[in-house]
Parts: sequence; structure tokens; C-alpha cells
Amino acid sequence: MSDSTAPTDDVWTVQRILQWTADFLQQKEVESPRLEAELMLAHARNCQRIRLYTDFETPLADDERARMRDFVKRRAGREPLAYITGRKEFYGRDFAVGSGVLVPRPETETLIDVCLEHIPPDQAVKVCEVGFGSGCIAVTLAKQCSRVSVDATDVSSHAMSFATQNVANHEVGQQVTLFEGDGFGPLPREPAGRFDGIVSNPPYIREDEMAMLMPEVAVHEPREALVSGADGLVLVRRLVSEAVDWLTEDGWMVLELDPAQCERVVELFRAAGFAKTAIHQDLSGNDRVVSAERS
Ligand code: GLN
Repeated sequence: MSDSTAPTDDVWTVQRILQWTADFLQQKEVESPRLEAELMLAHARNCQRIRLYTDFETPLADDERARMRDFVKRRAGREPLAYITGRKEFYGRDFAVGSGVLVPRPETETLIDVCLEHIPPDQAVKVCEVGFGSGCIAVTLAKQCSRVSVDATDVSSHAMSFATQNVANHEVGQQVTLFEGDGFGPLPREPAGRFDGIVSNPPYIREDEMAMLMPEVAVHEPREALVSGADGLVLVRRLVSEAVDWLTEDGWMVLELDPAQCERVVELFRAAGFAKTAIHQDLSGNDRVVSAERS
């Protein structure tokens, strides 16, 4: 029998591979199997997702199939989709991400909104960020406010490499300066009390909580970006107590937290001498962000 009579079922068309992948990812308990199959195939074919629908009957080229096979295998091992596609959208912009940095989360957009409430438009404002990760917070603040400058730190060299890329991609190198090191440690000490605001999405998960998280987070994302001691607040306590040395007299600080930690962190801020505090909800209605002002 000649090749031309080979049953079309043997041909891996776009439609067929999408169906197969969606079924396979469903068995592996991936949350949105069809959507993720489409996003991976679009990435493997280097095309827009919408294009898959006009190419339904098109067979995949060998290199596209090889790339797709690799992506599906990784996703079945519960590697985050964002590490496979190498990008994640945050606050309407695209960020390069990969193994070694925390994938930007939608709830962190609330952290941005609360910072923006504290930043007067058209004023030169100096912000410090601890734990920049992919750089999504520092870059977003710089993009939203052209007169904001951000000095940001992170202990991770992976974070440094992704954030450097994102600062360059979004052309905010004039506004954002990245320092590698722990907490406020790598920042120049002088002049003291120079920041108008401090922002952080610190590690805040309790050690005993790690085992309960999805494998995407627990196995694949960087532990130092997630966990902070038995109650999840080891780094937060340190940042709150050191913050006053870095802030202006009417400076502010904004932290992302677990909903169950917010009340406790309000108390920490009060004990550290902050005058005004507030708890803010994320888009799912959970307490997520605590803000505090010195006066
Ligand atoms: N909200 C994140 C998560 O669930 C935690 C991020 C963090 O610790 N800053 O996985």
C-alpha cells in the first residue's frame, strides 16, 4: 500500500494533537487542560493561539512536534506552564520567567494598586523593593509612574538574571536599580531615611504548609521565595523592624501576605511605631495586603 492511502488518523494535525494533549493533561490533573494544550502548541509553533483554529487540519512539522512532546512531558511533571512558555502576564504586561523565579500571581496586582494609592502623581518618589523575583513589581511601578525610581534587592542570582532582562525589555533601566543580596543588606547605607516607600511580596508560607501546596509551587518554584520559618513571618518581622531606618518621616510600607497573617502584621507595624495601618482585599475578596504609614 502506498503512503497516499495512509489513514489520516495517523497524521498529527493541530486539531488531533490538541485533543490528545488536553485528554492527557486532564488525566494528570492539570487544572485547565484544553487551554494549556492550546498555549503550549501555540508556543511550539511560534504562533498566536487564535491561529490554531484556522490551522486545525494542518499537520505539525517535525520540529514543532518534537517541541510539543517536550512541553507536554514537562507539564505532565507539573512544571508551571509559565516556565514552559517562558512568560507570564502581569498588570497587562509580559514578563520573562523561568526556573528559579516565582511566577507572578494575579493577587500581587493588588499590591501594585495599594502602592499606587500612596504615590502622588507627577512627584519624584523613591521606592525600595525587597525580593524582586522576576522584577514584575519594580517594573510595573516604574511603567505606571514615570517619576518613580525603585531600588530593588533579591538574594537569588536567577532572579537577578530574569529581572535584568525584564527591566531591559520594558525600558525602565533609568528608573530601576537591582541589587543582589538579602533584605536591605545590599543597599548603600547613606543617605539614611531616603525612601518614600517600601514594598515587598516576601516569602510568607509556613514550613508545615509547603506539603499542602500544588506540585507546581512546592516542587518547582524557588523555596526561598515562598517559605519563611514556622509561622511564615520570619522575614516580615525583620523587614518591619528594619524599615524605619530606611523610610522618610512620613514614609509608607506595603506587604503582600497570607489572609490569616494580616491582623498579626498590623500589630507588628503598630509595635514598630507606624501610625496608620490598613488591610486590603485581593480580587478574590481575601485579605491580602497590609499597608502602613509612619505618620
Ligand atoms: N501566594 C503565593 C502562593 O501561593 C505565595 C507567594 C509568596 O510567598 N510570596 O503560592
